[in-house]
Amino acid sequence: MPPSVRIAIVGGGLAGLATANALKAFGISAEIFETAPALGEIGAAVNCSPQAAKALGAIGLADKIAAVGHRSPGIYTRNMQTGEFLEFNDRFKMAARYGAPYYSFHRADLLDTLASGLDRGAIHLGHRLTAVEEGSERIGLAFGNGVRVEAEYVIGADGVRSVLRHALYGDDHPAYTGQMVWRALLNTADVPPEVLEPKGHTQWVGPGCHFLAYQIRAGKLINVVTQQDTDKWVEEGWSTRGDPEEMRASFPNPEPRLAKLLSLVTECSKWGLFTRPLTQNWGRGRIELIGDAAHAMLPNAGQGACQAFEDAYILARWLDACSDPAEAFANFRRIRIPRVHGVQRLSLANARFKHLRDAAAQKQAIAAGTGSVHGNSEWVWGYDPVAEWNKEPAVPSAYAA
Ligand SMILES: Cc1cc2nc3c(=O)[nH]c(=O)nc-3n(C[C@H](O)[C@H](O)[C@H](O)COP(=O)(O)OP(=O)(O)OC[C@H]3O[C@@H](n4cnc5c(N)ncnc54)[C@H](O)[C@@H]3O)c2cc1C
Repeated sequence: MPPSVRIAIVGGGLAGLATANALKAFGISAEIFETAPALGEIGAAVNCSPQAAKALGAIGLADKIAAVGHRSPGIYTRNMQTGEFLEFNDRFKMAARYGAPYYSFHRADLLDTLASGLDRGAIHLGHRLTAVEEGSERIGLAFGNGVRVEAEYVIGADGVRSVLRHALYGDDHPAYTGQMVWRALLNTADVPPEVLEPKGHTQWVGPGCHFLAYQIRAGKLINVVTQQDTDKWVEEGWSTRGDPEEMRASFPNPEPRLAKLLSLVTECSKWGLFTRPLTQNWGRGRIELIGDAAHAMLPNAGQGACQAFEDAYILARWLDACSDPAEAFANFRRIRIPRVHGVQRLSLANARFKHLRDAAAQKQAIAAGTGSVHGNSEWVWGYDPVAEWNKEPAVPSAYAA
């Protein structure tokens, strides 16, 4: 007979590990099954806004994340070709207003932090979920290494290409969004200070593309992440090694500071962005999907992982409150789906603004309040998942169903 566990978490990425920490904080144990042979993160950096920092803080991680998070004064946005200043979004003020910091992390640092307090014996590496059998009392999980496990309840945190999601809902493949990303890391010491002045996140927006650079790891590294509209994604996978010359050619006629920054890139990766239409299909019965497995979104509101951290806290809170975990899952979905759908719509709206054709159109959108780099996110950051875990959060009409 296969070994039996009460709660299995499939996927040891940011969502899975945050959820294991949250469950632990409420005295609930879980076993994690992760396909990779070691915990690690591809991709360079991730930003965490105040409401998500609150969720992580409430599960006892406040000091640990403060130790590895970098605090940026804000995001300065410029036009990509002229260098004209467009908008400043102040992150220190925002942190003061919402009572929690805005952090930028090296992903590996954040993942290590999330793993550090967990029982390593409960993290099963090299376990790639291949098949799921939904029974009335148990969920059967089969892994690529031949191991079979029975779980009373399963939390699917296995990312945008979730096997659990596929098992529940069939062919629900994520589709290419028509947007791709370049990512690179630079040593801060190699970048002339005037290129990224004033200090903080610096963003250039241009026709059909944008480019963001910011410090991480106590300011020692600069994370570069870009996004552009293109129908030319031909790779099988969604993340692949890139060619710096091709990356540079993607940003024609850059203003001198951006040109200098681009010239320093010697290694990069490229990503196709994949999402699926907004869906209520977040699990059923004994299975709950969280993070990208439930709600993959465009990165333009910086919220994919943040929403996973909200998921982690609120799911654990409901599991603590309900004697029947299936009831906890249903309540979790009732509270979470409207908010996350709102955030998914915001991400799309932000992507449209960032890729407007010219500076005049960008300034017009900012003045009219219809476009902003992050200025439309007050309702996202102002939410308190800890105080409001059991209330249906308000979503502004522009982003509601
Ligand atoms: C360019 C870019 C920039 C971003 N910037 C931000 C940002 O600034 N702020 C923010 O909040 N979000 C950001 N995001 C989004 C964020 O990265 C994701 O939302 C987040 O990583 C999702 O975490 P996850 O744990 O749900 O999924 P994943 O990170 O994909 O983790 C899934 C885990 O499951 C494992 N797994 C997969 N399949 C199986 C299987 N069959 N069996 C067992 N294990 C499996 C994987 O190995 C992995 O460890 C960005 C995304 C991109 C692409």
